[in-house]
Amino acid sequence: MSHLRRLGTLWLGTDANQRLRLRQTSLAMLLMVVSVSVLHFAVELAGGRADALLWVWSVFSLGGMVAFYTAIRSGWSLRLDDPSMTREQIAFALTSAALGYAQAGPLRGACFPVLNLILMFGMFQLRASHAYGLCMFALALFGGVMTTMAVRQPAAYPPAVEMGHFLMLAFMLPAVAVLTARLSRIRRRLSHQRAELARALTQLQAIATRDELTGLPNRRQMQALMDQEQLRSERHGHDFCIAIIDFDHFKHVNDTHGHAAGDTVLRAFAQAGQAALRASDVLARWGGEEFLVLLPETPLPLAGAGMERLRQQVAALRIDIGAPQPVSITVSIGVTGHRPGEPLAEALERADRLLYQAKSDGRDRVCSDA
Ligand code: GH3
Ligand code: MG
Ligand code: MG
Repeated sequence: MSHLRRLGTLWLGTDANQRLRLRQTSLAMLLMVVSVSVLHFAVELAGGRADALLWVWSVFSLGGMVAFYTAIRSGWSLRLDDPSMTREQIAFALTSAALGYAQAGPLRGACFPVLNLILMFGMFQLRASHAYGLCMFALALFGGVMTTMAVRQPAAYPPAVEMGHFLMLAFMLPAVAVLTARLSRIRRRLSHQRAELARALTQLQAIATRDELTGLPNRRQMQALMDQEQLRSERHGHDFCIAIIDFDHFKHVNDTHGHAAGDTVLRAFAQAGQAALRASDVLARWGGEEFLVLLPETPLPLAGAGMERLRQQVAALRIDIGAPQPVSITVSIGVTGHRPGEPLAEALERADRLLYQAKSDGRDRVCSDA
């Protein structure tokens, strides 16, 4: 079994896409071997001997397939638009079939099912326009071969019979092309739907994790980030801190300038807040005009200093709300360090208490339990 698998890897390689292409080409190769054998058998059956032309055709047909296999297996075809070379392989196989038809004599009818099989290789790969193009190519090719043979060897290829064969092809080949085109449209619709689904999923993820107004992580996402940080801190023994920020007298902003102005202020704060923090800190909208900051791997004094800097920068903001005068706000902040082993909720409660201490101490300040 493992020998067989090793042989398979040797023949097809390990890349999934390449394996698929090479499997297809191997099947086409097998079909070519069978076709060549049948033609030799047909010649023998008719009591003749394989002539030089038949050998030339055999070498051309088999050699061509080996060349396709080599081009794909070596990775050379990866530089092409279609690395499977499906179109080229089909055009080659059609040419080989038409030349075989000219030598098959009474057994030439066997070419038609083979022709169908060749075209079916395109059903999984070809675009509609390519399918129609190959159909026209096959018709011209066989039309030419049939006419030539009817003129040169009318005894073996009677013109009436060739005309009948051609009419059959003239119906059969376009029918296969139409089916291929239909499959191609279905394939395209499917891949379009898959892309739409992926886009919707990305959008959904953004909606599930982001606050719509500010673009900051939302409460759910922040909860997940804090849970992660808690696990990390337990494993590595880092400290992390949490700060809760609440706007001072924000009702007043809404009452004076309107809710839309209040929203503008919230967005301006989110932007300024993020800019004031370190890249590793996370600012999230916790709800309403309350924000939470997670400061990973930060001792409390450093977190307190960071929040003080943030408070000052927010107080210095002049926020344009489209009114003659810009609006300025202040925030109160409670900051605490998470204690090893304690539940997150406890640290959050402590930060909340510190925030209300900041409020009762007169607002526009940072309170920490350092
Ligand atoms: P304090 O200093 O005590 O915090 O006073 P405050 O007026 O800020 O009081 P509180 O924090 O209780 O008020 C929150 C206000 O924030 C009430 C609400 O109108 C406003 N608010 C909450 N969410 C939004 C929002 O999404 N947009 C706007 N414009 N306002 C909001
Ligand atoms: Mg509040
Ligand atoms: Mg408030």
